[in-house]
Amino acid sequence: MSVHYWNYPTEMFCGPGALDLLTERCHLLGMRNPLLVTDPGMLALEPLALLKARLTDAQIPFALFSDLASNPSMDDVARGVAAYHAGKHDSLITLGGGSAMDAAKGICLAAVDAQGLERFEWSQVLANYPSLADFPHLNLPRLIALPTTAGTGSELGREAVLTQSELNIKRVISHPEMLPATVILDPVLTRGLPPALTAATGMDALTHHIEAFCSPLYHPMSSGVAVEGVRLIQQHLLNAFSDGQDMVAREGMLVASAMAAVAFQKGLGGVHALAHPLGARYHKHHGLLNAILLPYVLIANRATISTDIARLARYLELPQADFDGFLGWVLDLRQRLGIPHSLEEIGLDADAADWVGEQALADISSSDTNACVLSAADYSQIFRNAVHGVLPGVKA
Ligand SMILES: [Zn+2]
Repeated sequence: MSVHYWNYPTEMFCGPGALDLLTERCHLLGMRNPLLVTDPGMLALEPLALLKARLTDAQIPFALFSDLASNPSMDDVARGVAAYHAGKHDSLITLGGGSAMDAAKGICLAAVDAQGLERFEWSQVLANYPSLADFPHLNLPRLIALPTTAGTGSELGREAVLTQSELNIKRVISHPEMLPATVILDPVLTRGLPPALTAATGMDALTHHIEAFCSPLYHPMSSGVAVEGVRLIQQHLLNAFSDGQDMVAREGMLVASAMAAVAFQKGLGGVHALAHPLGARYHKHHGLLNAILLPYVLIANRATISTDIARLARYLELPQADFDGFLGWVLDLRQRLGIPHSLEEIGLDADAADWVGEQALADISSSDTNACVLSAADYSQIFRNAVHGVLPGVKA
């Protein structure tokens, strides 16, 4: 027998118009001069204009920081920390996708603890802070998160994924106080998301739920969240993709994406273990990589997960409620969303397969939480299959 640590996240406001609660929450949280962190791609878009208008109307002074790469780096965070101190800010608001949110979380940590990004890197955390209760209290600045994509779930996470540019690797930084104090899920903020990004981010959320559901860690509450999260994506993703103005579908996907971060307290698996190094090396979109990789990893895990996947397939009321039926549903969804079948189609080749295998094995997502134990050679082979579009054991 062992004792498990379970912790549910933070306050959330969800629904069209939830943005209107932002300034009230700023006041309640004592946020007098927030730094607003967003992606450069957001600068000319409606969500930022809406948010700035709310802050201005409420006479809350703020400054904007958007000097970020699409996979934010430690250097981006360092510039953000400089902006935070230069503007004498006391808190942060983040508007955007996973890049903006992860950068904002990194800035929160590094603004208070100059060595924080190294001290709380995953491998250090495992050695020094085995449970959330072991982390030192840092009194990090308050953070409010407003996602504009429905995919990463970063708004409900205690981690930031940051690239270490000179090594081309992604580092996972964890601290419980990086969890936003308030999360605002307003589907109006996601309605401008183009179809291709709606598809890629939605498939990221789906991958989070499936990998969490298949993780062997014992966390029945998260397993339940994952099952319903997959059903919400089944119900809403194609609608959000085909009609970006469909607020019911947009809200359904925002909820499913946030729920995924609750589900993946059980951990992630081989898809993310591969997508992290591939994203760092080839600068491809995280959700797109996951969407392409998902069927290949499901097949590699097949022997371990087929009973659980059949249970999930029954909940989804798929016509063929077994592993093959579920795999067929994933492949069909992927195709209808216009997602390529192979990594070759987005410009990758298999030359670096050995490096990819080693990096995937070392990734946080492969440690204890992939459904079965995979070796570096296994990961290299899954990567080669994904490059060439080969699904072992599946009839064409
Ligand atoms: Zn992900």
